[in-house]
Amino acid sequence: MRLSTSVSHKLRIASNKWFSLPRLGREVFSDLMKAKVKYDTKFGFKITSETDVPRAISVLSRALDQQVELQSSCFICNEILGENEKPGSIICAKCKDREDCYALYTMKFATLVENL
Ligand SMILES: [Zn+2]
Repeated sequence: MRLSTSVSHKLRIASNKWFSLPRLGREVFSDLMKAKVKYDTKFGFKITSETDVPRAISVLSRALDQQVELQSSCFICNEILGENEKPGSIICAKCKDREDCYALYTMKFATLVENL
C-alpha cells in the first residue's frame, strides 16, 4: 500500500542529533542497524560519524516513501549548517571565525574519542 500524493516534501535529518521515527518494522530497523545508525530506546536514532550515510538514507527513503536528506551540523556547536556554508564543510562560519576554533575542535574531538 502506498500513501498518496502529499509525501513530496523532503525529510531532513541532522547528523549527530537524535531523531525519532514512526514504527517501521523489524526489517527496516535491522537495515538501519546494519548502516550503523545509532539507536537508543529513550532518544531514538542518530546519524554519527560511524554511520554508512548513503545506506541509511536509502533505507529511510524507502521505508518512509519520502525523500530523505542529511543535513549536516557544525562539529563544534551543533548548529545546522545552512546555505552559507560550503558543501562538505563541518564547521559553521561563526565557529570558523573564532580565534579559539582550532582549540575547540581538538577539545571536541578529544571528548568524542573518550566517549567511544
Ligand atoms: Zn559552529
